[in-house]
Amino acid sequence: MSSDSNQAFKKFARKVSQIHRAASRPSVSRGSAKRQDNVVYKTDNKLKGSYGETDLDNKVVKVNKRLHKKDGESLLDTIVHERMHLKHPKMHERTVRKLTPKKVKTLSKKARKNLYAKFR
Ligand SMILES: [Zn+2]
Repeated sequence: MSSDSNQAFKKFARKVSQIHRAASRPSVSRGSAKRQDNVVYKTDNKLKGSYGETDLDNKVVKVNKRLHKKDGESLLDTIVHERMHLKHPKMHERTVRKLTPKKVKTLSKKARKNLYAKFR
C-alpha cells in the first residue's frame, strides 16, 4: 500500500505547486482597462516642449494636452507612443515613432475612446 500513499502524496504536491503558481501570477481579473495595464495617466500642461513623457519605473504616462491643442497634434498618437515605450522599454525611440501610426490604425473605435477617457 505504500505505492498508493506515494501516489496520493504526488497528487497533493502537484496541487500545492499549482496553487503557488496561481498566487504568483499578476492579477488582471478585475475588469476595466485602467486596472489591466496598471498605468497611471496624467495631464501635465507644463511639460517643457514635449507632447508626452513616460516614467518607466513608476509606470506613469504624462501628456501635455495644451501643447497638443496649440499645435493641432493628435493626442491619440502620443498616448499610443508612450504606451509603446512602457510595453517595450528597450525599443529604440525611432522604432517607436515608426510603429505608432501603424498601431493607431489598428485601434477600434472603442479602444480609442478608452484611451481618450484616461485623460478626462
Ligand atoms: Zn518616445
